Amino acid sequence: MSEKSKKRPPTPLSIKRQLRQESGFGCCKCGKPIIEYHHIIPYTDDDPHFRPEDMMCLCPYCHFEATDGAMSEDEQRRYKENPFNIQRGYTKGLLKINQEDLVISTGSNLFIGNGDFIRVDNENLFLIRISEDGYLQISVKIFDDQNNKLIKIIDNEWLSGDPFAWDIEAYHQKIIIRKKLRKILLDINAKKYPIEIKAELWYKKVHFKLDNNAIAIDGIISRTMKFSNLCFVAGFIDINLEKGWALNGNTVIVEPDINKKIQKGIDIWNKKKIWWNSRSSDLIKDLRYYEFKNIYMIGVDKVP
Ligand SMILES: [Zn+2]
Repeated sequence: MSEKSKKRPPTPLSIKRQLRQESGFGCCKCGKPIIEYHHIIPYTDDDPHFRPEDMMCLCPYCHFEATDGAMSEDEQRRYKENPFNIQRGYTKGLLKINQEDLVISTGSNLFIGNGDFIRVDNENLFLIRISEDGYLQISVKIFDDQNNKLIKIIDNEWLSGDPFAWDIEAYHQKIIIRKKLRKILLDINAKKYPIEIKAELWYKKVHFKLDNNAIAIDGIISRTMKFSNLCFVAGFIDINLEKGWALNGNTVIVEPDINKKIQKGIDIWNKKKIWWNSRSSDLIKDLRYYEFKNIYMIGVDKVP
């Protein structure tokens, strides 16, 4: 890559959005929801363009085909005109979901809110959002056990890393990213409610395993921490590699019945959203009281 091409500005957000919409939020050729923005007419010093009619969404694998010359311009334009997802009726993409509020289940814990649920030294381990079009957007940086960055995906855009060392499997409302051979790094199943996430990730040499039983974190203060059966609302597990960990964002519900737990969580989440919009100091007083009252009462409920 030349110095000049390194300086190419990123594709403008409005163009990205237009390309995502026309492609059915996936690769025009194969429909995968993890994509790159491809220039059908190359971006050059003489023609530094972001013309949507000369660009398209492709997954990293099909993008390689296109840039490697294995997919002719005619072929590229055919896929752009007849995107895989649109042909099959997935106009909002494979990761279109029916949830308005993000309710995630991982390691037997629930996270209700904005999809930011584990932070290490103030960085998200990974982040899940619902876009304004109602599909899941995933951001993750995957490292190896020596803290070398392997891949980087931000809002479903493959930004860096060798895609051929990885498999991305995508189905309707489900995505699995695994390292060859077979090791699953991230498995997001949005067919279920709550959305189920399993993952095994390294970050800053700390090992995170999110399976059916717990979120297990290895390598802080030299022992394994496990979190299970908690419900966080707009909250997250906050890990500081020097100081240890904290449960942050202040609302943790302890309640045995899962449906009640989700309902209470969504209720608190909605109140928080009202507060964020209004910034009323009276409301935050009420809200804090409400939260503490609920945590307290839920705790007390269990005591005879
Ligand atoms: Zn593809």
